[in-house]
Amino acid sequence: MSEFDFDFDLFVVGAGSGGVRAARIAAAHGARVAVAEEHKVGGTCVIRGCVPKKLLVYGSHFAEDLDDAAMFGWDVPQKRFDWAVLRDNVLAEVERLEGLYGETLTNHKVTVFKERVILTGPNQLSLASGRSVTAGKILIAVGARAALPEIEGQEHVITSNEVFHLDQLPKRVVIAGGGYIANEFAGIFHQFGSHVTIVNRSDTILRGYDEQIVDRLVKISVAKGIDFRFNAGFAAIEKREDGSLLCRMKGTQDIEADQVLFAIGRLPNTEEMGLRELGVELTERGAIKIDADFRSSIPSIFAVGDVTDRIQLTPVAIREGQAFADTQFGGKPTHVDYGCVPSSCFSHPPIGLVGLTESQAKNKLGVVRTYTSDFRPMKNVLAGRNERSLYKLVVDDGSDEVVGIHMIGPDAPEILQGAAVAVKAKLKKADFDATIALHPTMAEELVLMR
Ligand code: NDP
Repeated sequence: MSEFDFDFDLFVVGAGSGGVRAARIAAAHGARVAVAEEHKVGGTCVIRGCVPKKLLVYGSHFAEDLDDAAMFGWDVPQKRFDWAVLRDNVLAEVERLEGLYGETLTNHKVTVFKERVILTGPNQLSLASGRSVTAGKILIAVGARAALPEIEGQEHVITSNEVFHLDQLPKRVVIAGGGYIANEFAGIFHQFGSHVTIVNRSDTILRGYDEQIVDRLVKISVAKGIDFRFNAGFAAIEKREDGSLLCRMKGTQDIEADQVLFAIGRLPNTEEMGLRELGVELTERGAIKIDADFRSSIPSIFAVGDVTDRIQLTPVAIREGQAFADTQFGGKPTHVDYGCVPSSCFSHPPIGLVGLTESQAKNKLGVVRTYTSDFRPMKNVLAGRNERSLYKLVVDDGSDEVVGIHMIGPDAPEILQGAAVAVKAKLKKADFDATIALHPTMAEELVLMR
């Protein structure tokens, strides 16, 4: 069968960050491309993840900003928050972005099928409407779904899918998990006035983050009034007549709540897609196994993004989609460099990090030096807010290379992106020292640590 006998050169399953980028770039390279999406164009990041979450983070920040305004001379007579206004504005913005993503595809002459699809052969797919299509290559970019607990009363919990659509702001929220989503939504709900309890199975949160930074977040969160229950789990969740929930706990006292949010990681969306039947090799967690060219065990089937369960971050999926399309359709073989991927947890205050933590660096490099700056941002001082930031540089003692930067404090993610370039470029501590500070900023601490 020649490539011209296929209906499409490329069929992308899933119109999220990775899928849209791959489809758009492959089409720009001249490929005949189709995309199938059963939900909304944009995927987790745009529809029910990064974007609406960040808008809620912005919205929630006003709670402290309005309090702090008084010391800056502003008289804010009455502070009142209306969840429905923010929720509807955020959802309207998501809808606008969904439209733009859809336009991007149609502008690139990508055929969009708004329906579910399953694979029926190495080059064949079946659409929910009954139509069968063929493609020279198939790219699976269907992302991941929130993991759910196997407990009695599981139907009473929500995940990050539902959290953006709540009718009302819960007075008491219990959040299961201690990762990105748990800490971000703990900050959001707390700022909106809900009482928040984080329950994690281990004795830490944000595993893999630098321990000093994690300690600082826990300390600040506790001071704000967020409760933590460590080494704890859920036995069952009961719904009471008044609609409230009773969490029957293991390892800690039972907790009453109005909403229980589960954020215990995300699992690849590979079920009921025909993948196993075709012999596509999956990992134990159900992720598609791929090589450096994103090729699965079936040569015509590829995968990018969260469905491969490697680094579950939007910019990584976008890079992968781009590299896949350039390699397969643009004559530009490209591999993704996964070193020094910066990331952030948009907690209150947020965390930004790139490179190795102190303990990772010690394990990998042996002798390392660390530099920390523990300071109270100028704005917090005048506002009377007793909240300290912590910046940390991890330096390879032998080469003087800065191998990790870890920051918690206002705007840490915004500051970190620029600093990540320095770590990626393998700049040395001496280069940081030689850079004149930009005063007065928080970021200047990065070049003032001695
Ligand atoms: P994370 O992987 O960040 O954290 C999962 C948390 O749940 C951990 O604290 C873990 O505990 C706990 N956990 C894992 N499995 C179980 C289980 N079976 N039962 C109970 N607890 C469990 O997951 P999230 O759901 O918060 O986020 C999913 C992914 O989405 C992240 O990995 C991230 O890649 C992405 N994301 C990124 C964001 C960003 O970049 N700002 C924002 C939101 C999501 P422990 O580690 O203690 O064992």
